[in-house]
Amino acid sequence: MRTSLVDFHCHLDLYPNFPGVLMECERAGVHTLGVTTTPRAWPRNRDLAATCQYVRPALGLHPQLITERSEELALWESYLPQARYIGEVGLDGRAAYSGSIDLQEDVFEHMLKLCARAGHKMLTVHSPMAVARVLDKIEMHLPAGRGHVVLHWFTGGWHEAQRAAELGCYFSVNAEMLNSTRHRKLAATLPLDRILTETDGPFCRHDGRPAYPHDVSMVVELLAEARSMEPQAVASAVLSNLCHLEETS
Ligand code: MN
Repeated sequence: MRTSLVDFHCHLDLYPNFPGVLMECERAGVHTLGVTTTPRAWPRNRDLAATCQYVRPALGLHPQLITERSEELALWESYLPQARYIGEVGLDGRAAYSGSIDLQEDVFEHMLKLCARAGHKMLTVHSPMAVARVLDKIEMHLPAGRGHVVLHWFTGGWHEAQRAAELGCYFSVNAEMLNSTRHRKLAATLPLDRILTETDGPFCRHDGRPAYPHDVSMVVELLAEARSMEPQAVASAVLSNLCHLEETS
């Protein structure tokens, strides 16, 4: 039997036909984490995923939206007891968001502390141009054993990847990473037992259209090629990593 695929970071609620995409994940048997960018989206994501076997909802507050939405942190906090998966959260250190970086750090730190206190959460974390700062926060506020972090679309260097792995982090790899020479080389060296796959749809594209969760099969193929493995072996490793992550969270 074909191994079920894993899309650990997809914005299901940003497709025009959210319920249809969700049903397609169920039909195709793709284990999909539906992330949110604002806690206002949580109730609908939670309710639609409630009857799903393969789709899980994640409670997020995107760092790029912090300037306009920092007051939604209280709402995020009020839903936290309902959520096992958290994201999209994190830091964005790129120039366009540098004005809010202090606020982003305060919010992320607060979230990590609450997750650590609650325990058993799995977080999908955004970190462009802010990997060291994200890892510092995780090291200080979400000790191993109090929660699990998956670094989504990781773009740090080899030393940062090694530090992240030592802190217990996982990495979710997407097609855009594997289409960049530098990031493909990095993806080839990440510990196999810490790798998950993702589409980051609909932001990442596939064949000139927004990527859908089932397109994660391409990520498996590209990753297999980068690591000189059989796609089936990569798919099995990813599924077993997801099971391990869930069992130990
Ligand atoms: Mn995303």
